[in-house]
Amino acid sequence: MSEHKRPAWAIAIHGGAGALGRAEMTPEKEARYRAALDSALQIGENVLRNGGSALDAVTQTVQWLEDCPLFNAGRGAVFTHEGRNELDASIMEGRTQMAGAVGGVTIVKNPILLARAVMEKSPHVMLTGRGAEQFALENGIDTVSPAWFYTEERWNTLQKMLEEEKSKTGSLTRNPDYKFGTVGCVALDQSGNLAAGTSTGGMTNKRWNRLGDTPVIGAGTYADNNVCAVSCTGHGEYFIRYAVAHDVWALMAYKGLSLQEATELVVNKKLVEKGGEGGLIAVDKNGNIALPFNSEGMYRGFATPEERKVDIYK
Ligand code: ASP
Repeated sequence: MSEHKRPAWAIAIHGGAGALGRAEMTPEKEARYRAALDSALQIGENVLRNGGSALDAVTQTVQWLEDCPLFNAGRGAVFTHEGRNELDASIMEGRTQMAGAVGGVTIVKNPILLARAVMEKSPHVMLTGRGAEQFALENGIDTVSPAWFYTEERWNTLQKMLEEEKSKTGSLTRNPDYKFGTVGCVALDQSGNLAAGTSTGGMTNKRWNRLGDTPVIGAGTYADNNVCAVSCTGHGEYFIRYAVAHDVWALMAYKGLSLQEATELVVNKKLVEKGGEGGLIAVDKNGNIALPFNSEGMYRGFATPEERKVDIYK
C-alpha cells in the first residue's frame, strides 16, 4: 500500500507465511481460507469502527483465529516431535509498551488471552510451561484438555515428517506440509493507539520445548505508539536471531525509513540474505500498512475505513 492521509483506524492480520503451495491449493481450500480471513478481519474492524481499542481489536481477532482449526494456533496447532501441542503467544500495547507472552502452554484454550493477562495482571513479561498454566488457572483463563487442539491434518503431517526423518529424506523447507501458519494482528485505533499480537503452535516436529519468535517480544511482536506495530510469521529461529519486529521499529525510529522501506528491507533483503523464510504485518502511527513476505504466500488481510482486502499469494 502507498503512504496516504492517516485513516481513522487501520488493521492487518496474518494467518501465517508459507501458505500451501499453489499446486496443493484447491479452489475449495482457498475459499475456506479466504472466508476465515474475512471473518477474522471483521471482528477487529468492528471493534475499531465502534471506537474500541487497538488492544481489544488485536486480542479478539487473534482469539478468533486461534479457535479456527485452519490455522496453526490454538485449535489446529501443529504437533511437537513427541505428539503434543505446545502453544506460544505474545501481545504488546503501543501506548505503555507493556507486553505479555507465554510459551509452551498445553491446556490454555486461547494463549493470546493468557498473554494479555500476563501483561495486565502479573509483574512479568514472559511465562512458560507449567508456571504459565498455573497463572492461567489462578486468573480464570479458560483451560481445556490437550485433545482440544488436535486436528487430523496436523497429526498426519507429523507422522509424515517422522517417517521422512527415519528415512533421512525429510527437509523442513522441501515439504509443503511443514509450512508455518501462525496467526497475528496489528491495529491502530481512533485514539492513535497501536497494538500487536501473535499466536502459534510453532513448527511441526519441534523438540526439547523449543520456543520460536512468537512469544519473544522484539522478535515476533512489537508495538510503540510513536512508531509502528509489527507481528511476524515464518521460520522462528531466524526471526529471533535478527530481532525482526524490533528491527523494523529501529529502522524507522533511528534511520527515518518509512514503514514500506523498513519492512521491505527486513523481509525481502536482510531475511532473504540469511535464508529466513517468512513475512510480517505492520501498521505505523499514521495508519500505513505493510504486509511483505518472502515465502510463496502468506494468509493475510487488511482494512481501513476506505480500503479492505484479503489475499494469499503475491
Ligand atoms: N514463527 C513461528 C515459529 O517459529 C512459526 C510460524 O510463524 O508459522 O514458531
